[in-house]
Amino acid sequence: MNRNKAKKILDILQETYPEAGTRLSFQSPFQLLVAVVLSAQSTDEQVNQVTAKLFSKYSTPQEMAALSLEELQEFIRGVGLFRNKARHIKALSEMLLERYGGEVPRRFEELIKLPGVGRKSANVVLAVGFGMPGLGVDTHVHRVSNRLGLVDAKQTHQTEAALKAQIPRKRWGQAHHLLISHGRAVCKARSPQCSSCLLESICSKNIK
Ligand code: SF4
Repeated sequence: MNRNKAKKILDILQETYPEAGTRLSFQSPFQLLVAVVLSAQSTDEQVNQVTAKLFSKYSTPQEMAALSLEELQEFIRGVGLFRNKARHIKALSEMLLERYGGEVPRRFEELIKLPGVGRKSANVVLAVGFGMPGLGVDTHVHRVSNRLGLVDAKQTHQTEAALKAQIPRKRWGQAHHLLISHGRAVCKARSPQCSSCLLESICSKNIK
């Protein structure tokens, strides 16, 4: 574990991507939760397009739970796996009403019990929705962290644990956004641009 290396990388990335943050549009923790569920295997732009229409009419767990599955599917047809996602959104809205008085819980263990909500989504909701410590590991965070040599992990939950162990809690949310920004812009899945990467001198280049 190398806390100094992690700090140096985050400092450089912070300078490079000062605007790094979520691109999802939302106005409440519930809307963020729905947007995050919709974002699996879809771009943030696609998600924002469907949520702009959806949230203008239905923006609370009560309203979402009252929709039929078919109605909900029609709204979110523009994102991948929309049938499954509609089922999840309806079920999680019902669960929020039944168990949490229509509020999104602020505890990780409760968030991951909601339908369609995995570790990454729960971490993002905590960090972005509530400003609490959360470090979601998506495909970019996983790939870039392994290449950099910050972690040596096959599974995303292992990457999450290793990153959390070497990054201060107050930087977890920021680390998520910075590593995603770098993965999108430079350390791309198929063609990492190492020769123009500001992290090249400290990167382990574990490229597989
Ligand atoms: S040097 Fe290459 S592998 Fe390392 S972070 Fe930069 S682009 Fe990715």
